[in-house]
Amino acid sequence: MGERNLLVTGASRGIGAAVALLAAEAGWNVVIHCRRDLAAAERVAEAVRRTGRRAVVVAAEVADPADIDRLFERVDVELGPLHGLVNNAGVVDVAARVEEMTPERLQRMWAINLSGPMLCARAAIRRMSRRHGGAGGVIVNVSSAAARVGSPGLYLDYSMSKAAIDHFTTGLAREVAADGIRVNAVRPGIIDTEIHATSGHRERVDASVQIIPMARLGTAKEVAEGVVWLLSDGAGYVSGALLDVAGGR
Ligand code: NAP
Repeated sequence: MGERNLLVTGASRGIGAAVALLAAEAGWNVVIHCRRDLAAAERVAEAVRRTGRRAVVVAAEVADPADIDRLFERVDVELGPLHGLVNNAGVVDVAARVEEMTPERLQRMWAINLSGPMLCARAAIRRMSRRHGGAGGVIVNVSSAAARVGSPGLYLDYSMSKAAIDHFTTGLAREVAADGIRVNAVRPGIIDTEIHATSGHRERVDASVQIIPMARLGTAKEVAEGVVWLLSDGAGYVSGALLDVAGGR
């Protein structure tokens, strides 16, 4: 098999960084995308290069459609044909009840967590689909267990965005299956990353261990294991699947 090129959005830290590294170990060249923390993304790229694979760092705001176009143009130029996309970049917001949520908060949530992955998938499909002269490919969306359990009193907007990602995964998988593209999602439970600290949820996260059957948080690497399997030829007959990586929750 020839070289295979993968774009991982939000790969400067957390789950995305773990996916980038594990995918490189599995043989993928990787585009390490971030919003603006180029120094952190470059550290991930260095780790990828140490595996012997190629790594390119690109910054782009996924809430900005023009920036997404520029991201994929950089991928074309700097890495070549795309074979895989991991739609990982995403945000939560501070804890709030629905009656406290502002329209600006909702717009930002939909733009980053919904439109962003959908427009990235659009750009990837235009390159990978046999319908458009591509060689086929694979997409993995990073959803959340929040899509199943809801997040009442915390961030229903976030859990709604992830429920929509599940729906997108199921529908898109059927739409592009005949064009040689598999589409799946992982639904991580509560994973030990910076996302909680940046949104003021850290203490609640530590306390939430009680509701996890395995009685511990998950690691970014454990989520990455699921993503990289879904990317692999070993998952060649798997499409439209939602893989829970949530400690039994
Ligand atoms: P994280 O540590 O906060 O990392 C987020 C990544 O996304 C960073 O690389 C960040 O880039 C990038 N990013 C954020 N907003 C962006 C934007 N507007 N445009 C472009 N890039 C943006 O997050 P994580 O915990 O690894 O989560 C990754 C994914 O897993 C998210 O979709 C999240 O919803 C999902 N998830 C996480 C958990 C969990 O418990 N951690 C559970 C379920 C699902 P910069 O570094 O440049 O800011």
